[in-house]
Amino acid sequence: MNSAEPESPTFRPRHLSPSSASTFRQCPRRWRLRYIENLPDPKGEAAVLGTFVHQVLEDLLGLEATERSIDTARDLARKLWDETLTDEDFVGLCLSETEIKSFMWRAWRLIEKYFSLEDPSEVEVIRAEQKLSAEIGGVPFYGIVDLTEQVSSGVRVVDYKTGKAPGSKYLEDKLSQVWLYAAALAQEDFDVSEVRLMYLTSGSIDRPLDSVAVAGAVDGHRRTWDDLCQAIDSEQFPHRTGPLCNWCPYLDHCPEGAAEAERRYGPRH
Ligand code: SF4
Repeated sequence: MNSAEPESPTFRPRHLSPSSASTFRQCPRRWRLRYIENLPDPKGEAAVLGTFVHQVLEDLLGLEATERSIDTARDLARKLWDETLTDEDFVGLCLSETEIKSFMWRAWRLIEKYFSLEDPSEVEVIRAEQKLSAEIGGVPFYGIVDLTEQVSSGVRVVDYKTGKAPGSKYLEDKLSQVWLYAAALAQEDFDVSEVRLMYLTSGSIDRPLDSVAVAGAVDGHRRTWDDLCQAIDSEQFPHRTGPLCNWCPYLDHCPEGAAEAERRYGPRH
């Protein structure tokens, strides 16, 4: 069942993840189409590539520390590649032979880059791909942490990113995700002392635990939840057009977004 499937009589999502909250903040109409209408939201190429790289890193970090070499990563990537070729998200991209080669090359470059950013044999893994369900700030929260690792100061929360690092204007918004993980992990008695966004394209952004930032992220999440509940109760999910409309899977259901995409990028083919 979809995590946000209606539960009559008053529908409330079972939980609010950082990605669902981000979708709502970006465009309430998109959230409604995705989480209430349950329209398909197929992954784009960047998301499929991100999933592939995340899986290789998860498999790698699941091995004994001494086995985490780049040759092992190559073997894991090859094995996963065979499965990816028949994965419906990957098949749905309809890539040409040339585009498939480019996809593989970019994925491998990101994995190589990972090895230049840290030595995985030195990572003291506590858990990889840890699912978190908690109530934080009165909001039912759900998230998946890429990695919790033991460091000298306590526990570091790590989120791997395969996209571009944000400019300073958007950095706090990106960090709010790991602050929320820190808040949820604190409820499970994890002694979180640091958070890290590891951008495989450019490097890591590290922060020591900052209780003010954690409280701010929790408060922001609660405000999104309140706005979402209000939208549900009033059945008002306004469209919010912008540059991302061009990549929205619901253009065919949204005349304003389609007009915006055409205005910015020209007619669709
Ligand atoms: S096309 Fe734009 S305005 Fe329409 S639902 Fe998608 S993001 Fe919202």
